[in-house]
Amino acid sequence: MPCSEKRARLLLERGRARLHRVVPFVIRLIDREADRCTLQPLRVKLDPGSRTTGLALMRETESVEPDTGEVLPGAAVLQLLELAHRGHAISDALTARRAMRRRRRGHLRHRAPRFLNRRRAKGWLPPSLQHRVHTSLAWVQRLQRWAPVTALSSELVRFDLQAIQNPEIAGVEYQQGTLAGYETREYLLEKWDRTCAYCGAQNVPLQIEHIQPRARGGSDRVSNLTLACACCNQKKGAQPIEAFLAKDPQRLRRLLAQAQRPLKDAAAVNATRWALAQALKATGLPVELASGGRTKFNRQQLKIPKTHALDAVCVGEVNAVTGWRRPTLVVKCTGRGSYQRTRLNQFGFPRGYLMRTKRVQGFGTGDRVQAIVPTGKKVGRYTGRVAVRATGSFNIQTGSEVVQGISHRHCRLIQRSDGYGYFQQQSLTRKEAGEGRAKRTMRSASPA
Ligand SMILES: [Zn+2]
Repeated sequence: MPCSEKRARLLLERGRARLHRVVPFVIRLIDREADRCTLQPLRVKLDPGSRTTGLALMRETESVEPDTGEVLPGAAVLQLLELAHRGHAISDALTARRAMRRRRRGHLRHRAPRFLNRRRAKGWLPPSLQHRVHTSLAWVQRLQRWAPVTALSSELVRFDLQAIQNPEIAGVEYQQGTLAGYETREYLLEKWDRTCAYCGAQNVPLQIEHIQPRARGGSDRVSNLTLACACCNQKKGAQPIEAFLAKDPQRLRRLLAQAQRPLKDAAAVNATRWALAQALKATGLPVELASGGRTKFNRQQLKIPKTHALDAVCVGEVNAVTGWRRPTLVVKCTGRGSYQRTRLNQFGFPRGYLMRTKRVQGFGTGDRVQAIVPTGKKVGRYTGRVAVRATGSFNIQTGSEVVQGISHRHCRLIQRSDGYGYFQQQSLTRKEAGEGRAKRTMRSASPA
């Protein structure tokens, strides 16, 4: 069961625990068997993203509302993680390899063309996307090994279509004006591609806009809503759409067609998230799947700033959160080096060769080492990720710099490479958190 730093220190000092792992810091009790009564229910929450996935380990708590005596579920944050994926690196490497091979095989004109002889397995994802599923799942499984995780939560879709179409389904938050507004907004952003429908502006604050103005009998239905920048919204005012876009009949036709087209497979927009959800279900733990609209709603209700890890905290049903002002451990997927031993130039010809073995003097690139240099120009103590060279003169990446030319004789292994790089990110200061809140355009969302 995760404990405080002080407690961990005392357990180690008194010989009651062993060090299991340095980063993330994990200890193992040796004088006690796990017994169910000292364990509390823990939940791992995920906010899957294309570049970064936020993970949060939370302890589930209960708080009693002083006025009504109602018991509300809450959560205490125990660990925040940000998993930085390398999908782009994978995709770039495969594209480069394909181009090199194509170039080298260009002269094989005598060979009969081979095509239509490739098959993809059902549920196949491109390697860069499959990697996201694999690494996210790997971290869920790691947390499961280190702590008594009893449940999982993940964000599945950006918006909950049910909450928009049928706002009465369940719970107060689903009623018009609170959660429904958030879901509608996310839905419209997806449907209109985060673009102003009238001028095509992107990366500007967008407002929800009635295509047929309400003043002229236009409805509040999703099919009558679009997004417009502040400028266009103002200019259009209460004009009918046909009058406003009279000079641009092409855009008008496209807009009206788009408005009528429902976002059909809205739920299946993101195949990777579905694949991850299936993988999470396969762990056997209860999985709560939530929408991005709810995450945003929770974040604004709880007044939590936006980071990947804190978004994970806000996934799913959560009424109160404590302890979220803590450092985030950034976990960067680095891979385990290249399989290819030949370095190529831009034309695909050999430029140089890597060592046949990946280890030098017992060290491998990616290992976490501590080097104590007693004399010379580099005198000092360095801790970080090592990059090995055949000469035995290594580079060490510390949190702030790369120290070059450290002899293997001064290095001591702390933790073997596991395909990830780690560094701590300090918690947001009060000021940063406050600014983060102020920047967002927050619509008044009072609890119903
Ligand atoms: Zn505009």
